[in-house]
Amino acid sequence: MRKDYNSGMRIIEIFESLQGEGLWLGMPSWFVRLAGCNLACAWCDTPYARDAAAGTAHTLAQVLDLARMARPQHVVITGGEPTLAGDELIALCAGLRRIGKVVTVESNATMFVDCNPPLMSLSPKSEVWHDDVLAAYVQRGYCVQVKVVVRDAAEARAAAQRLLPLAIPRERLFLMPLAHTREEHLCAATWLAPLCGELGVRLAVRAQALLWNGMRGR
Ligand code: SF4
Repeated sequence: MRKDYNSGMRIIEIFESLQGEGLWLGMPSWFVRLAGCNLACAWCDTPYARDAAAGTAHTLAQVLDLARMARPQHVVITGGEPTLAGDELIALCAGLRRIGKVVTVESNATMFVDCNPPLMSLSPKSEVWHDDVLAAYVQRGYCVQVKVVVRDAAEARAAAQRLLPLAIPRERLFLMPLAHTREEHLCAATWLAPLCGELGVRLAVRAQALLWNGMRGR
C-alpha cells in the first residue's frame, strides 16, 4: 500500500535529538518523521503521524537543504511508516547519502522497499509479522537491527523464537518494553531484563522514555 507523493513527502516534524534506541543509542541525530502508517497499533506513541494527509509537503530538494544545515551527521527517517513513501524514500536515502549523512530508516517491516540505508531498523508487530519482509532485507545484505515491543513474558518468548532463526547477529536483536514514560520503563525492565539474559537477545533501553519521560519531539 504505497502512497503517491507527487507533491513531495508529507512531513510531520523535523527535530534534533539523540537516538533513543538500538545500536546507535545516544548518537546525536536529525529526525525526519514522515506522515502515514498502514497499521494502527494500540500502543502507538506517535498517533499524530498515522494520517497520510497530516503534516506539510516537502520536496526532496527542500529536505536536503534542511539536512545540509543540520548539525548531526546521523539522520533517522521515521514515522508513521516511512516505507509507504516508496520511491520518495529511496530518493531521500540516496540524497542524504550524497551529502554525507548516515541514515537509519525505521520501519514496521510490513513492506520491502529497496532504500538501502546504512542501518535498517525493523520493528515487526506480533499481530502483523511478515517473515518474508524480514528475510528480504537480510537476503539483500542490509545492515538490519530488529526491535520488537513486548508486553509480557509470553510475547517476549514468542518474539525471540521468531527472531533467533533469522540470519541476524544476536547483538542486533532487541526486545523492547512497552513503555512511554520513565516509570513504565523502569517497571517493565524489571521483568524483561532477566528474560533477555535467558533468551540471549538484547534489552532495548528506550532512552527517550528515561531521559525525557515521553515528551514529544525529543
Ligand atoms: S507501526 Fe508505528 S506508527 Fe504505525 S501505528 Fe504502529 S506504532 Fe504507530
